[in-house]
Amino acid sequence: MRPEPCAVLFDLDDTLYPHRRFVLSGFAAVAIHVERFWGVGAGEAFAVLTRAYRSVRGRELQALARRFDLPAWLVPQLVEVIRAHEPRLNLPRRSVRALQTLREGWRIGVVTNGPPDIQARKVRAMGLEPLVDAVVYAHATGRGLGKPDRAPFVDAARRLGVRVAQAVFVGDDPVADIGGAQQAGMFAVRLRRGGRQMWEAACAADAVIESLDEVPSVAMALIDGRRAYVV
Ligand SMILES: [Mg+2]
Repeated sequence: MRPEPCAVLFDLDDTLYPHRRFVLSGFAAVAIHVERFWGVGAGEAFAVLTRAYRSVRGRELQALARRFDLPAWLVPQLVEVIRAHEPRLNLPRRSVRALQTLREGWRIGVVTNGPPDIQARKVRAMGLEPLVDAVVYAHATGRGLGKPDRAPFVDAARRLGVRVAQAVFVGDDPVADIGGAQQAGMFAVRLRRGGRQMWEAACAADAVIESLDEVPSVAMALIDGRRAYVV
């Protein structure tokens, strides 16, 4: 038994689930909206949006408007459709497995950036709350700066009843997650998906993993004082 409680904290988007799934869920909501109000076939609209996601990421709605001669003023309205929709998301099996394994010896939290209302809908859609002990919406914490500000990290540790030095943060973003967690005094584990990225960013982390399956053993190694790269 550990002498004092320890925690593992997770980022949400692109850590516990692929953010792309939220984007696709939003596109589906937009496709239904333009079919209903603008007479554009939902299937066709969805196809245009997903194609644009691959070619002109960030300009998908403009591509949709152009393709179907929709007015430019509609774009901000479609952004709202995405923001307000109830996403259809599943928590990946690997994430469920990692959380269930950790539940036996760790306190578990989620610290997520982004508009709290949207993030809360994602959490609800994935049924995440029963699997963790606390969810911290970083932009609703402290001065509302979000990660890498230390406030949400400190708040998460407080809510879990652990010292920051007894917490391991797992995330994909080198600045918001890794830099932020370390500045707050936590260990930071970088989840690296899909090939090599900037190695210096990876090296700033206390450990680098390629799958959430690795979290329980890596977190234990870090807390036990065996700081090591796991690549
Ligand atoms: Mg992320």
